Formats: sequence, C-alpha cells, structure tokens
Amino acid sequence: MKCVVCGTAGNFKNLFSLRDRVFAVEGSFDFLRCPSCAAVIINPQLSGDALMAHYPSTYHEDYTQRYESLSAKKGVMNKVRAFLKFGTLAQFFGYGRRRWFLFFLWPLVYEFAQYPRFVRGGKLFEVGSGTGAFLKLMDELGWDVYGCDISPSACAVAASMGLRNISCGPFDSAAHPQGFFDAVVLYHVLEHLPDPHAAIRGFWDLLKPGGELVMSLPNTGGLTARMFGKNWIGYEAPRHLVSYNPRNLRLVLEKNGFAVERVITNSALGGIVDSIELILGKKRSSLVFLHKAARAMKFFLDPFADFFKIGDQLVIRARKPVGREMP
Ligand SMILES: [Zn+2]
Repeated sequence: MKCVVCGTAGNFKNLFSLRDRVFAVEGSFDFLRCPSCAAVIINPQLSGDALMAHYPSTYHEDYTQRYESLSAKKGVMNKVRAFLKFGTLAQFFGYGRRRWFLFFLWPLVYEFAQYPRFVRGGKLFEVGSGTGAFLKLMDELGWDVYGCDISPSACAVAASMGLRNISCGPFDSAAHPQGFFDAVVLYHVLEHLPDPHAAIRGFWDLLKPGGELVMSLPNTGGLTARMFGKNWIGYEAPRHLVSYNPRNLRLVLEKNGFAVERVITNSALGGIVDSIELILGKKRSSLVFLHKAARAMKFFLDPFADFFKIGDQLVIRARKPVGREMP
C-alpha cells in the first residue's frame, strides 16, 4: 500500500477495524496509519455505488450547519450571539468596520476560523455545500456564492432557499473557468475524498492568484482522538477515507504550491461530547446540555487547544501565491 498523502510505501500500522456506526450498512473497514506522515487511511476504500450506499439521503441532516440569518432573531441571547459573531467577523475577517472595543472578541477568532476573509462582491465556492446554510449567510454578507454537493436532497433544500449556483454532483474543477474564484471553502469534506492531491490541484485551478483556500476537518492529532481512539467521532467508517493532523495536511497543501497562512485547531470539547454519544449509542447531538456546556467552554479553551494544536477540529487557511506556477 502507498500513502496517498506523502507517497510512502511500507509498513502501515493497523490501528483498528470499524463498521459503519451511523447507518449500519454491511462491511468492516481497517484504519491504517502511515509510518511516515501519520495519515490514517481506510482499507478497503469503497467507491461508486458501494460508497454511496453509506451516504443515505438523510446524511446531510446530521452534518450540515444550520442557517442563521444576518438579521438576528428575537430575544436578548440571540442578539448577544449575533453581536459576538458579526462583531468578530467584522473585526478580524474584514466583514465590516473595525472598532477598538471589538478587540476583546479575539478568543472567538477560533470559533469562526473557517470563515474566508471577506472580498466585497468576490466569488466564493463551497465544495460540499450541503443544504446551503453557510452559502446563504455568505450571500447575505455580500459574496457571490457557488457550491456543489453529492446529495440531491441537500441540493433541493439549497435551491428552495434561492441559491441558484449549486451543482448537484461530485466536485469537478472543470465546471468553472480557471482562476474564477476569490475563495474556496470546504467544511469537513477533504477527509471524504480519496486523492487529496488531485482535489487540492483542482482548488488551485479554480482560485485566482492571491485567492484563499479554507478547509476544516477532524484532527487526528487532537486530544479527543488520542483519548477515545477507535471510539473517536472523527474515525467515521467508511466515509472518512483519509484522516489528517496539522502536519500532514500542511504537507499536502505545500506540495501543491499553496502558501499556508495558518493552521488552527479549535472545538476543544466538541468531539468529546460526540464521542460519548457514540459510545452510549445515542443519536448525534442528542446530549443537548453537554453540547451547550461544551460550546460555552470553547471561548476559554480554544485558545489553549490551538496553542498546543490539540483541538478536535483542524482549520487550515492557505493562499494561492501571486505569480507562482504550480509545482
Ligand atoms: Zn504518509
């Protein structure tokens, strides 16, 4: 076997075997770790219809974000949350005027680390756009938004929200002109793709010189992954074909010419609650109180989790350099 991340052939360590714990489709899958770069790779890797059987039409219901409109809902707490979110986006991500008193929001930079830096009227492409929650908000904030998703039911929801530029099907870099986008974002998608280098080259083609690539994904180097091992929520058989840590993800991007600006780890406790749900056989997000507590703690814990790079989620922000050919 050859590592799809670093190219090393040789003695992969067999970590454990898992079945599909979310949809209980037949089959057992080995999780192997590359001796050189520590990427965790599933074997055997399904493709085509066999893999699609593990993506039932309800898949997106548990895995896409909820749409939160720019105009805050009623209630004091919702107004406070909207102020914290859009204040952080304005102060640190270019979505509005910076004000000196918003500086205290800096711990929330970790919470919103997956937001691309704002480009007014810029073109934004989300690979794996799901029901379009993120793109809908980005549209309201002033981006010209595009997306793609393999789930027909998720695409139908996105279309019903008025998002017109979403293609239903796998990512295809040839579907748009080269150098078309100011930003490409992926929210928990790269780990579902069999060949990271081919995908990253596709994103390179789509981006303008100076354009930004932002990806978030589970962190195999995080505290939760180490604590829970095979019971970690991030080891999702057989959909997470390749799982990454901050080092090997940076390697993939740099090998393909991207300038990595930041590698952030966040969601310090989120994965712990998800993993407990998995062990107890509970439905995802059913331990509502624990999720709320974990969310509240993130404000204090994420800066530490990032300092030690042990957060449950990994966010990488990179740019296609201006005036550099692809290596
Ligand atoms: Zn490797």
